[in-house]
Amino acid sequence: TITVQTSTNQYDVSIGKKLRFETANFIKKDYSSIFIITDSNVESLYLQDVLSSLKPNYTVNYTIVPAGESSKSIRVYFDIMTQAIQYGLDRHGLIIALGGGMVGDLSGFVSSTFMRGIDYIQIPTTILAHDSSVGGKVAINHPEGKNLIGSFHPPQAVIYDVETLHTIPLTEIRSGYAEIAKHSLIHTEPFWDQIKVVNLKTLLSDEDLMVHLLKGIEVKAAIVEKDERESNIRQHLNFGHTLGHALEAELGYGEITHGEGVGIGMLFAMRVSEFYYDIKLPYTELFTWLKKNDFPLDLPQLQIGKLINRMKKDKKARNKTVQMVLLKSVGQPAIELVDDNNLAMLLEKFLRELV
Ligand code: NAD
Ligand code: ZN
Repeated sequence: TITVQTSTNQYDVSIGKKLRFETANFIKKDYSSIFIITDSNVESLYLQDVLSSLKPNYTVNYTIVPAGESSKSIRVYFDIMTQAIQYGLDRHGLIIALGGGMVGDLSGFVSSTFMRGIDYIQIPTTILAHDSSVGGKVAINHPEGKNLIGSFHPPQAVIYDVETLHTIPLTEIRSGYAEIAKHSLIHTEPFWDQIKVVNLKTLLSDEDLMVHLLKGIEVKAAIVEKDERESNIRQHLNFGHTLGHALEAELGYGEITHGEGVGIGMLFAMRVSEFYYDIKLPYTELFTWLKKNDFPLDLPQLQIGKLINRMKKDKKARNKTVQMVLLKSVGQPAIELVDDNNLAMLLEKFLRELV
């Protein structure tokens, strides 16, 4: 268990096996009723397990949204609100988010606005959700961009049952592990040494999963505790995301997963770092790891200008100059403005080098 401190309260992230059957034990307050939000894939796998733990002691209702990013929409948000009201959920109720990052973000945003904000608990069921369930950022998407409608609303608890991770498809394992790799690279050499040997195509043991998720969450929690509202060091978490987001948008969401974009983005950030700081980073190690784990490194023809424009649209870009998180060494991230000429030159070289 890790305790995450926020400016207003604190919550525990518990990681273990079979925790979904013990959900009720993690509920620390008296709630009038419980409303579970899950998606169409997770429902058939784990909803009954969670219900079996809650039913004896609580009035429980649930809603199932279609699986996929498109459910992080204002329409689905509104439908959930309507159902919650009809079920009689009130200010003293609890929402439980059962699912991956999509369900977590959506349910968190519902919780943050339902009757001006009620408590919620996350039960993450993907590896990527180790990232999304910690830090308190919740959001839905606008047609103009991802996560544009959101708020900060930390959960009361995070209950991570690693057994649920055995059913996620390989593409999602890859996507989630890219964020773990990111957490390791901005943290320390030893953590990266642990991750760089992981073969995602072989069955991961519960023990390995627990260790990697725990460390990943510790890194994220330490950063968000110091900087809840993303003024400064929280930006370190964007390592690999500047190009990653641009690739996701340019290739089309669904064509490449978030983590796959981040994986390639981290490679590029390493090259930019090597240029700016005149240093050598473990680029080849990361490249080999991504390749071994089938990250899509053979990108189609991309226009440099378009990618740079995408990078400038990033919520984090300042004064129209692209801002990137670089590494001075493994474990030493730094924020730099990268001017257009250098960016174009480095990006062109990088894309040529990838093929
Ligand atoms: P997701 O929740 O859409 O899950 C991916 C797919 O796996 C879905 O089809 C889902 O139904 C399925 N799935 C989930 N759990 C499963 C299980 N145990 N077995 C089988 N299938 C399962 O996506 P994700 O990758 O978990 O999260 C992505 C979302 O997280 C994005 O919306 C992103 O914006 C958000 N995110 C938020 C933060 C944050 O700080 N709030 C950080 C990173 C990402
Ligand atoms: Zn990310």
